[in-house]
Amino acid sequence: MGNVLVYAETKNGHLPKSTLIAIQAGKEAAGKLGGDVLVAVLGAGLESAAQEAAGYGAAKVLAVDNPALANYLADAYAAALEQLVSRNEVSLLLATSTAQGKDMLPRVAARLNVGMASDIVGVNDDGTFQRPMYAGNAIATVSLDGAVQVVSVRGTAFDAAHPGDQSPVEQADISLEAADQQMRFVVFNEIKSDRPTLADASIVISGGRGLKSGENFKEYLEPLVDAMGAAMGASRAAVDAGFVPNDLQVGQTGKVVAPELYFAVGISGAIQHLAGMKDSKVIVSINKDPEAPIFNVSDYGLVADLFQAVPELTEEIKKLKAE
Ligand SMILES: Cc1cc2nc3c(=O)[nH]c(=O)nc-3n(C[C@H](O)[C@H](O)[C@H](O)COP(=O)(O)OP(=O)(O)OC[C@H]3O[C@@H](n4cnc5c(N)ncnc54)[C@H](O)[C@@H]3O)c2cc1C
Repeated sequence: MGNVLVYAETKNGHLPKSTLIAIQAGKEAAGKLGGDVLVAVLGAGLESAAQEAAGYGAAKVLAVDNPALANYLADAYAAALEQLVSRNEVSLLLATSTAQGKDMLPRVAARLNVGMASDIVGVNDDGTFQRPMYAGNAIATVSLDGAVQVVSVRGTAFDAAHPGDQSPVEQADISLEAADQQMRFVVFNEIKSDRPTLADASIVISGGRGLKSGENFKEYLEPLVDAMGAAMGASRAAVDAGFVPNDLQVGQTGKVVAPELYFAVGISGAIQHLAGMKDSKVIVSINKDPEAPIFNVSDYGLVADLFQAVPELTEEIKKLKAE
C-alpha cells in the first residue's frame, strides 16, 4: 500500500473542522491499509496554514505555495493535486465532502483515470469503503480498481483529528499548463453570520414548513437559536417556499449534520430530511401532529403548537442562562 494523501482545505488561512475530519479519516485509513499520511496544503502565502497542518501527526505536510492557487479554482487545484499524487507514491487521496471536495475530487480522479467513491463513512480492513445509498437506508461496500483510489469523506462519519506530533513541512513545486488556468477567480460572496455554521455547530435548530413564513422564522425560531448559541437549519420545504436561504437546507440534497443536539421544529420527518440529520446524538422534535414520522427518530418529542411552545422554551432557556 502506498501513502494516503489528505487534501487540507483552508478557510481564511486556517484549517476548518472539516479538514481535521479529513486528516482523521486519513489516519484511520493508513492505520488499516498501511502507508504514511501526507497532508497537502495549497494556496499562496501559506506559511501559517502549513504550520497549523503540521500539528496533527502526519508524516509530512506538502505545501504548494503558488500565486495561481491564491483562490480555489477547481482545474488548477486538481492539476496540482494530480502532480502531488504522482510524485509521492500515493495510493489513496481523500478530502471531506465539502463544496470544494465535491467540486475537485472527481476532476482529480478523471485526470488520474481512476474511479472515485463519494461520501464514504468507513474504511474496511480489506481496503473497501462503506458509503450510504438510498438516502442512508443502505450502506454499500465499494471497492475501487486502479493504482490510486480517490474518495470523499462524509463530514459526520469521522471525528476531528486531535493535535499530534509535529510534522516536517516540505515545499512542493507544481507546474500548471495554460489549460489548467482557464478558470478565473472573480469574487467570493461569503454569507456572513454571527451564528456558528451548520458544519461546526454542536447544536442545530431547524425549522420546517410548519413555521409558515420567513417572518415567523425571525420571530419564533431565531430567538431560540440565539438563546442556545445554535446554528439555524431548515427543511427543503421551508427553503423552497423562500422562508430562508438554501445554504440552511439540511437533508439529502442539503447539508448533512450530526450535532450533539438537533431540534426539528414544524418538520414532518420526510426520509430526505432524515438523511441529513438522523445521526445527531440527541434529537428533539416539536410538532402538532402526534403521528408525524419525525417522532420515530426523536429522543424527545413534544406534541404542541410551535407558536406557543417555542417562545415558552426560549424564555425558560434565557432564565436558566441568567441563573
Ligand atoms: C429528491 C428529493 C430530495 C429532497 N431533499 C430534501 C432535503 O435535502 N431536505 C429536506 O428537508 N427535504 C428534502 N426533500 C423534500 C422532502 O421530501 C419533504 O418534502 C420536506 O422535507 C418536507 O419539509 P417539512 O417537513 O418542513 O414540511 P411538511 O412535510 O409539510 O411538514 C410540516 C410539519 O409541520 C407540522 N406543523 C404545522 N404547523 C405546526 C404548528 N403550528 N406547530 C407544530 N407543528 C406544525 C406539521 O404537522 C408537519 O408535520 C427532498 C425531496 C426529494 C424528492
